[in-house]
Amino acid sequence: MDDRSLTARRIPRWFLALVAFCLVVAAGIALGNLSLGGSGSSPPRAAASGTPEPGQAADRPAGTGRLDVTRHDEIVRLLERRAAAVRDRDQAAYLATVDPQATAFRAVQAASFGNAAQIPFASWDYELVTPDAFTLPAVRRAELGGTAVFTAHVDLAYRIAGLDAAPLRSPQFLTFVQRDGAWYIAADGDGAAAGQPSAAQVWDLGPVTVLQTRSGIILGVGANADLSAYQKDVETAVPDVTAVWGPDWAGKTVLVVPADQEQMAELLGAEPQKYARIAAVTTGERGAGPDEAAADRIIVNPEAFRELGTVERRVVMTHEIAHVASRAATRNWTPTWLSEGFADYIGYLNSGQTIRSAAPELRRDVRDGKVPAQLPSDEQFETTQDSLPQAYEMGWLACRMIAEQWGGTKLVDFYRAVGAPPAGGAGPPDQTARLAEAFTSVLGTTPAEFTAKWVAYVKAQVK
Ligand SMILES: [Zn+2]
Repeated sequence: MDDRSLTARRIPRWFLALVAFCLVVAAGIALGNLSLGGSGSSPPRAAASGTPEPGQAADRPAGTGRLDVTRHDEIVRLLERRAAAVRDRDQAAYLATVDPQATAFRAVQAASFGNAAQIPFASWDYELVTPDAFTLPAVRRAELGGTAVFTAHVDLAYRIAGLDAAPLRSPQFLTFVQRDGAWYIAADGDGAAAGQPSAAQVWDLGPVTVLQTRSGIILGVGANADLSAYQKDVETAVPDVTAVWGPDWAGKTVLVVPADQEQMAELLGAEPQKYARIAAVTTGERGAGPDEAAADRIIVNPEAFRELGTVERRVVMTHEIAHVASRAATRNWTPTWLSEGFADYIGYLNSGQTIRSAAPELRRDVRDGKVPAQLPSDEQFETTQDSLPQAYEMGWLACRMIAEQWGGTKLVDFYRAVGAPPAGGAGPPDQTARLAEAFTSVLGTTPAEFTAKWVAYVKAQVK
């Protein structure tokens, strides 16, 4: 193959830069303090003293203790009725939990409920995490009226049937209002001003088209419903991932296809421009053990995907699905060069892409005499880094070298050894120490020897 054809096949630079950025959601949302009389962050207020905080006022009845227990129980029962309504597909019962006076919010809630109609949920629950999670401005309180008002951080926890081994938790910051003795949900957007926005789910964005495939489920929003190309991508990628990782994963995935880039950002709670150059993101909880598998989601950027050719789409999809397959073995201490490099190793494996075509930035650096001396640090994978493409390329080549020189099985063994839970329930291991152990026990080498070998490999490969 001459240089000309290589050039013609070169993947657009933006694609290489962020071939398949991996977003990792922090594991374990702090479970709330449901103790009586106030949230964990603020001591119980002496409501009986009669001096309400600005904007908080009369929602906390005098006497604390017992009345708070009642309110807490009433809110929990309201959330239970709401969850049961979703499980029963009972829209009237669902809307009965919504403030009858919140006309616009009711309409949005009705639409969301309908949008999710096709999604096969296996479970749906709410957990009251933090009472009094944010303070409503006085003007908002006045607008709501009612005999009492309450705010809370509530987690929605749901599973998609046949796919999620564990619930996906999604935070909601809700406003409750009491009218004629009954509590209702009046809004889910009041917390945003206080930096506590409710997370959007795919059914909040528009009607969801559901495509069940042998490799999982695809959720597409709106008119965009031609999901068949994505089905091909996923069904090609899953066996490629299993061929390397082995059968020890579900072999299925949840793929979310928003209508546009703006919706992708909305799902990720980010500014739209942040994901302008990103083709796909995998979300999941790092550190979930084998018994507590995370509910991963692959979210594609449909605008970026439209610009990709078949090969590039499959590299991205295979990369993302490799993250899903290896999730349970990917821990907080797993270095990013290994998790991203491993995903790129599988992603590029059957793509026909050469190092010359797929690692142009690193190649240019080496030709300019900028030869890396160390494996890239986790910080080098931050999206704001100019040298992000090189970081991905270096991680890829490290994993590729392990597979070439020790074998693909050893690469998987190494990955698993690095991510293995600490023995005897000890705390999380030190990243450097854990890596050194795995280099010795799996590859029979040392960090220094490995790094030297890798530097030589990079120089030889990118020539
Ligand atoms: Zn990734």
